[in-house]
Amino acid sequence: MRLLVVEDETRLARALQRGLTADGFTVDVALDGVTGLERARDGQYDAVLLDVMLPGLSGYEVIKQLRAAHVWTPVMMVSAKDGPYDQADGLDYGADDYLVKPFDYVVLVARLRALLRRQSDPRPPVLAHGDVRLDPATREVTIAGNDVSLSRREYELLEFLLRHPGRVITKTELLDRVWDARGVGYEPNVVEVYVGYLRRKLGPGLIETVRGAGYRLAP
Ligand code: CA
Repeated sequence: MRLLVVEDETRLARALQRGLTADGFTVDVALDGVTGLERARDGQYDAVLLDVMLPGLSGYEVIKQLRAAHVWTPVMMVSAKDGPYDQADGLDYGADDYLVKPFDYVVLVARLRALLRRQSDPRPPVLAHGDVRLDPATREVTIAGNDVSLSRREYELLEFLLRHPGRVITKTELLDRVWDARGVGYEPNVVEVYVGYLRRKLGPGLIETVRGAGYRLAP
């Protein structure tokens, strides 16, 4: 099993390399984000241990670029930053597990082995509805196989609708979920405007208006 450890604290990196080597892994070390990304992209690793706070490129940026480059090696993020927010961040970007520093070495190895055991394709599934396909991994959208270019907001609106097929979604909910906290100050008709953009790009039949209630994907 080949592992890549991306960690800028040299002593910790070396200690992990020693320990994991003694446990039977082949271990490479990268001491900054840029080198880590290069190695992870090119090397055939079974798993990557990725620190969040790194010089050059943060761990979040490394995983984002790794997944954008279609590399699906399991990644365990390791960080001193605590709290569910950071954890969710790492997992959102495509990490497979998350460990908070300081961690127990025995726990690290157990979690690593579990990660390697369930090593399937961690690529997020493509969302599809009729002719429309949306790939959350690459943020590519196609209709009947042809690329469609969407703005960030259009993409996020479409992704939200595709994740809730068959449900009527109110404008308020869309403002809240797609326009985020920035929804404060937005007029609900901004939703109508963007639904209009999507209909123009993806065909008029995709999104239904449910009078007085909101929108839903056409069945
Ligand atoms: Ca660090």
